[in-house]
Amino acid sequence: MKRIAILGSTGSIGTQALEVIASNPRRLKATVLTCNSRVDVLRRQIDRFRPEAVAVGRAADAAELGREYPNINIFYGPEGIREAIDDVDCDVVLNAIVGIAGLGPTFEAVNKGGLTVALANKESLVTAGRIVMKAAEESGVPIIPVDSEHSAIFQCLAGNDENSIRRLILTASGGPFRTFSRERLESVGIDDALIHPNWKMGRKITIDSATMMNKAFEIIEAKWLYGTDAGSIEVVIHPQSIVHSLVEFGDGAIMAQLGHPDMKVPISYAFSGPKRWTTDVRSLDLIALRSLYFEEPSHEARRSLDLAYRVLHESEATGRDSGVIVLNSANEELVRLFLEGKIQFVDILDTLEYLIDGHEPTAVSTISEILQTDQEAREATRERLAN
Ligand code: NAD
Ligand code: MG
Repeated sequence: MKRIAILGSTGSIGTQALEVIASNPRRLKATVLTCNSRVDVLRRQIDRFRPEAVAVGRAADAAELGREYPNINIFYGPEGIREAIDDVDCDVVLNAIVGIAGLGPTFEAVNKGGLTVALANKESLVTAGRIVMKAAEESGVPIIPVDSEHSAIFQCLAGNDENSIRRLILTASGGPFRTFSRERLESVGIDDALIHPNWKMGRKITIDSATMMNKAFEIIEAKWLYGTDAGSIEVVIHPQSIVHSLVEFGDGAIMAQLGHPDMKVPISYAFSGPKRWTTDVRSLDLIALRSLYFEEPSHEARRSLDLAYRVLHESEATGRDSGVIVLNSANEELVRLFLEGKIQFVDILDTLEYLIDGHEPTAVSTISEILQTDQEAREATRERLAN
């Protein structure tokens, strides 16, 4: 029986992870559940999954839950997640928190040791890949990717020679605006951007998919997970989202992982790998599919991807990583403002380019330096928009 802590249990990944747990009652048990503010959803999860500890954002919610569930340990606030994980034995910490808010919990789980981190929170690796991977190596904590592309690569590498990677090829659906010109992008609204052609996800990553910044972050995530140079990571547009990513080895062989787009596959594999458990994901009908197609990223998509390559080349050449943090945190701020209706869709990428153009990279070596850079990037973003 694997004991699972789900951080961000009320979100898109968190709820799908609980479905996987519900389908494997003799193999998996949810022992810790955490969320920020959707306490109504958390309550239903507590009733169904009977965790031993939960953590929520606000003290008032914790007090109320404490009265309702006297047998469950309830934690809250910035320290709450760490306290919950310390309180309960867990074999796997699935981090499904959105944004840089997930960094502290990833780092704490890695440093705790004696467990596996299943990582959906890509922002942990985007902002702190170097530090997190080093800490994981030192504590012997495996980091298992839950992002579909990185899980695909992980699955392609199983039983293969990791030292012989020639290229990692990340696939991207291209999002809802794949064929849009700059002129058309100028008039897209929040609702247009929140419709993803193939995946149903949380709001932040859905906007990131529309701007292609999600794929930019995935290049960074792949670099740290697999220790490859940015120059060996490529992106191809694959609007069908059937091929989830590919690895080309030195001998010219390419391994790919295919299937209907469904996060239950990477979530289940993060718990079961290298074994495979049964899921309800339907079979792929190759004849009905007829063909798989791929295309080059559009000019607009390229702008987003290039931001990742620029900051990574800088990081590789100098060891100065602040650029990736600026990219992440300015983007978080911009997505928030876009979803609040305060800026236009095209402002997101325009502002990111402006900030990266003007950024003087510095070395960051601790989590607190990263959080400091995060705050500065957010301020710089707001300042730019005010002018
Ligand atoms: P979501 O918005 O649906 O859920 C986010 C969860 O994080 C919620 O449970 C929320 O309560 C919690 N949370 C938010 N802010 C928090 C804070 N400040 N402190 C503590 N908890 C907080 O997001 P999602 O779509 O499930 O994505 C989660 C992560 O997984 C993201 O990093 C995303 O990039 C990654 N991811 C998601 C998908 C997907 O299909 N949804 C696919 C690949 C990767
Ligand atoms: Mg992905």
